[in-house]
Amino acid sequence: MTTEIVTPKELHKVDPVFGQVSFDNHEQIVFCNDKDTGLKAIIGIHNTVLGPALGGTRMWKYTNEWEALNDVLRLSRGMTYKSAVSGLNLGGGKAVIIADAKTEKTPEMIIKFGQFINSLSGKYITAEDVGTTTADMDLIRDYTAHVTGISESRGGSGNPSPVTAYGVYMGMKAAAKFQLGSDNLSGKKVLVQGIGHVGETLVDYLTKEGALVQITDINEGRLQEIENKYGATIYKGADLYSADVDIYAPCALGATINDETIHRIKARVIAGAANNQLANEVVHGQLLKDMGIAYAPDFLINAGGIINVYGEIVGYGKDEAMRRTENIYNTTLEIFHFAQTQGITTHQAALAIAEKRIEERKREK
Ligand code: NAD
Repeated sequence: MTTEIVTPKELHKVDPVFGQVSFDNHEQIVFCNDKDTGLKAIIGIHNTVLGPALGGTRMWKYTNEWEALNDVLRLSRGMTYKSAVSGLNLGGGKAVIIADAKTEKTPEMIIKFGQFINSLSGKYITAEDVGTTTADMDLIRDYTAHVTGISESRGGSGNPSPVTAYGVYMGMKAAAKFQLGSDNLSGKKVLVQGIGHVGETLVDYLTKEGALVQITDINEGRLQEIENKYGATIYKGADLYSADVDIYAPCALGATINDETIHRIKARVIAGAANNQLANEVVHGQLLKDMGIAYAPDFLINAGGIINVYGEIVGYGKDEAMRRTENIYNTTLEIFHFAQTQGITTHQAALAIAEKRIEERKREK
């Protein structure tokens, strides 16, 4: 799931849409253009076998349209697998708006986008993502019912990050059980990279359980704050990947497990919130397996957020969202055992389980 850009010079080599590197039998791709508001958006509907395609809207100043198209194709496919492996009756979709969220976003543009979503009659349901906010979703809600992540005062499910953190914590415990023999994290050395919305709540769970938590972040002020609040230790080493820890939790950026870092990793377990942690799913997934490192697939253990917004569609509350998120523990263990018996990577195992669910539903239909 890496973004690849096809340059205009290479145009003749591939078909413009269905020939894109990230095209994966997507059901529908909708290009939205509105001259008056400057809206240029692409909605990618990857698969709706399990239900409507749900996924956030990313607003980003893409370098060119190819980059935007590939991003929406890649991200919408990812949503299909995330929902399927989490047992949700949702398909995979995503939208991108080609604009700078800081300087180009206007209410008129968001309204127009909401009207485009409405024209799809519920086949695609949006939510917030990078560059869009709860306030944007509230505005979209005035023009379509097919939006989640709206504010709690309007019947929404509220901030998904604490639920995401709970799922990561559950996935981490399951990975520890499989790899280290116990899911009790007391005394276990855990390095949390990125102590933002998700990372902070994860640190809270871990320190409460008695784990020995070290933290890293590019934001110095945040490090001090979290150290004081939870008693976590700021990691002081020069190279965080070679840190002497049991568990590495990437909760900042994607692709931190790459050619440069992978051979330095000393942790026995990797379990974190960041999306697309493996720079190359196939190559780095296999290398982790060969190195005997238990990798909890990111798209499985960071699904708490989507489980939370799913409640807005099917009408359950926070308790049910937490119960379903807790089940990430069982699914993670199931995936580790399945990967072990099949001799495949955990990433492949998670994809296989998701695909099986989609295929079964297709047959039922
Ligand atoms: P956030 O922006 O609140 O926090 C990210 C933190 O990482 C910030 O404190 C930032 O300073 C830090 N950071 C950035 N670059 C860094 C670097 N190079 N090294 C160390 N720290 C760095 O984001 P979040 O909502 O906590 O999400 C964290 C990750 O989890 C993201 O990759 C996000 O895509 C993913 N995720 C989040 C959710 C959710 O519900 N918020 C759901 C699924 C996946």
